[in-house]
Amino acid sequence: MADIIKLLPDHVANQIAAGEVVQRPASVVKELMENAIDAGATCIKLIVKDGGKTLIQVVDDGSGMSETDARLSFERHATSKISSAQDLFNLATKGFRGEALASIAAIAHVDMQTRTAANEVGTHLKIEGSKIVSQEVIATPEGTSISVKNLFFNIPARRNFLKSTQVELRHITDEFHRVALVHPNIEFHFYNNGSEIFNLPIGKHRQRIVHIFGSKMDNRLVPVSEETEVVKVSGFICKPEFAKKSRGEQFFFANNRYIKSPYLHHAVVAAFEGLIKSDTHPGYFLFLEVDPSSIDINIHPTKTEVKFDDENTLYAILRSTIKHSLGQFNVAPVLDFDHDPNLDTPYSYKEKGAVIPKVTVDASFNPFQEKGGSGGSFRKQSTKGWEDLYEGLGHQNDHNEFSSVVIESESEEQGTLYSGEGVEEHLASTFQLRREYVVSTVKSGMLVIHQNRAHERILFEKFLGEITVKEGVSQQLLFPLELSFNKQELAVVKEIHESLTNIGFVFDSLEKETVKVTGVPMMVPESGIGTVLDRLIADYMEGYSDGSISQAEMLAKALSRNLAVRTGDVLDSESQLMLVNNLFACKEPNLSPFQKITYTIISEGDIDKKFN
Ligand code: ADP
Ligand code: MG
Repeated sequence: MADIIKLLPDHVANQIAAGEVVQRPASVVKELMENAIDAGATCIKLIVKDGGKTLIQVVDDGSGMSETDARLSFERHATSKISSAQDLFNLATKGFRGEALASIAAIAHVDMQTRTAANEVGTHLKIEGSKIVSQEVIATPEGTSISVKNLFFNIPARRNFLKSTQVELRHITDEFHRVALVHPNIEFHFYNNGSEIFNLPIGKHRQRIVHIFGSKMDNRLVPVSEETEVVKVSGFICKPEFAKKSRGEQFFFANNRYIKSPYLHHAVVAAFEGLIKSDTHPGYFLFLEVDPSSIDINIHPTKTEVKFDDENTLYAILRSTIKHSLGQFNVAPVLDFDHDPNLDTPYSYKEKGAVIPKVTVDASFNPFQEKGGSGGSFRKQSTKGWEDLYEGLGHQNDHNEFSSVVIESESEEQGTLYSGEGVEEHLASTFQLRREYVVSTVKSGMLVIHQNRAHERILFEKFLGEITVKEGVSQQLLFPLELSFNKQELAVVKEIHESLTNIGFVFDSLEKETVKVTGVPMMVPESGIGTVLDRLIADYMEGYSDGSISQAEMLAKALSRNLAVRTGDVLDSESQLMLVNNLFACKEPNLSPFQKITYTIISEGDIDKKFN
């Protein structure tokens, strides 16, 4: 038999290797930004169009390249950063494999302009699918500008595999955050489709975090600092009361490189134990410095997992350091685990001077008594004790104003949830079991409804309808509410603005971090608007990133989840009846929007059997 093994031509080998390095536009962003940092840039501009599908450009003011280096930089295994295997154990640069540019050039149209300080003119190179199509001398500023167009133009399967522009943009933004957070000594600009979405001046870590995540972050941060022989830890954790339902801001950096480490993450979570609810996630920005030879970052070009020599020690140090910070900064445990919007200070009180309320607490009141671990919201029955908490306030300020706020939001909520036709028509009687189930009789036996899931189903269908037919009823706020969002949150609000308007939200402008809300859906209690929107945005970010369901469905789900009555809520008999009636008016009454069973019927036969 003839010999059959051939060496692959270079451009094919490059394309295959590119698959490893470049998975999506965000990978290109990461490689180009890291190269700019390695080149000593003090100012880096990132410019993208259409989620990076049309254009990704990085402009830096770093060292630039000579004509020869510019050409060489696109060769595989061409790097200026290491020269022997030994160097791998003492890396001071982000890159070292010499593969990124070769890979990117194999699968895109690349345009590079670069000049060093020593040269008066620079080099302009164009490469398409690994082929140099032109090389010219050019007048260009010191530094390098690389633009990458039409990513995956020659690999249609990969191109089709890209997610929506929004999703790709979100990945790029994540990558941008990771790089920008750890280099506060570099100025960054990020332009998307022509508008600047980040402008990050040089500053300290704390300022960088605040510039990226919004000014409300500033008073949430607690500094962390520890220096031992093994590791130097610095950075910030977020106060426990700002732990989120979604894994939002969690960042580890080791030797100035973003890393993922489930093990060290666990150390952080362990330090927060008892301070946050188990289904919430603490925010952190932690910078670790270890001896470069004690860390192996060489596992895979795009993986962010690392291996530390002495992980157990790191774990222990990290956990105790964070515990110490939490203690030192007097971050007290949060008692109100399941944050109930109705327990918030009513809006009209927010701006008033501090009056120390006379607190009378019902010592026997234990919110966890009702049902083991469910941590429901105790909306109805807790109202009384809550009013007592504000007793001092009531006398000093206009008493009526306060009580009207409470009554209004209560009655509105009840009104829109449960009033309507049909209550009297339903003759069967109902009762509530363990503040969790509503029980009623039907022809064939006994009906047991899970109140929370059933209400989620009812609200889900209601909101889904409103979003699509735009018929949500809005209640105008007497005093517009000012909410502050960070850039990503604002981007989400803009993205879902139309749907939010359809269900009754009214925003007066979405251009700044502070957004004025002038109207909300009827069923959102005024005091809970901020919380509902925050959760909505978090849910949306989490759910949308997998891109599998529609925006309307996503939103309807998030709203129903956040507004439905909970396990632990007491329902009066009218509400119980409405729940039964409305559930069976739904298109899919048997499942919650999260695919959980909403009700069951215990048949007469089953009951009879018990008496045999
Ligand atoms: P690596 O970063 O692993 O060395 P790359 O393919 O990313 O490999 O880059 C190859 C080489 O090109 C780098 O080692 C560096 O010398 C040069 N280079 C790339 N980008 C820049 C830049 N923005 N400024 C100066 N030199 C650069
Ligand atoms: Mg590189």
